[in-house]
Amino acid sequence: MSEEVLANYASVRAAIAAAAREVNRSPDDVTLVAVSKNHEVDRIRPVLATGQRAFGENRVQEALGKWPILRAEYPEIRLHLLGPLQTNKVREAVALFDVIETVDRPKLAVALAAEMRHQNRRPECLIQINTGEEPQKAGILPADADSFITACRTDHGLPVVGLMCLPPVNDEPSPHFALLREIAARHGLGHLSMGMSGDFDVAIHLGSTQVRVGTAIFGSRI
Ligand SMILES: *Cc1c(COP(=O)(O)O)cnc(C)c1O
Repeated sequence: MSEEVLANYASVRAAIAAAAREVNRSPDDVTLVAVSKNHEVDRIRPVLATGQRAFGENRVQEALGKWPILRAEYPEIRLHLLGPLQTNKVREAVALFDVIETVDRPKLAVALAAEMRHQNRRPECLIQINTGEEPQKAGILPADADSFITACRTDHGLPVVGLMCLPPVNDEPSPHFALLREIAARHGLGHLSMGMSGDFDVAIHLGSTQVRVGTAIFGSRI
């Protein structure tokens, strides 16, 4: 089981490097965030042992059950929050995560700013953009992105480093990635979190700096 995960991990690493070189980018400019949601600590350990340090989780509660133990052994772990964040979980999220990728509404921005002051801890923030304008999906609509990004940085003083998107499952992802890059460029934001198991190569071609890969490493989630 761990051999399978390690083989998957090695192929994902190789595919990231290949995709970067195809567009004359350095593989080092693309961070692999290994998405370990729904997988237990025992399945994560072998990947940690290879030197992987950036991991992504969707739920605060699940992450709290898994990562404090692992972090005691590997202090350099960088944990990314990828799922929607409720304001009643902001305290735990600010304490646990190093990167919060899902800043998606004014109320959350206000709560995060207050909690960061309170804890004197400033996880990096990415703003999630709903590039496909899907009603059921979290994220700021593209038309509202400029004003929201500016408000997060200037009014709330959040440490915004970039943008994240999750294209509609049945869409060709390229236009979504291109749109995200365009919005980020307008604001001088350097971090683009885009690309998952099925499309990280396309995302890297379009400038992704962090890919979020779960299934291709850990296998399917039940
Ligand atoms: C689950 C998830 C991923 C990983 O998706 P895979 O297709 O398993 O690679 C990436 N990003 C977000 C926001 C997710 O929720």
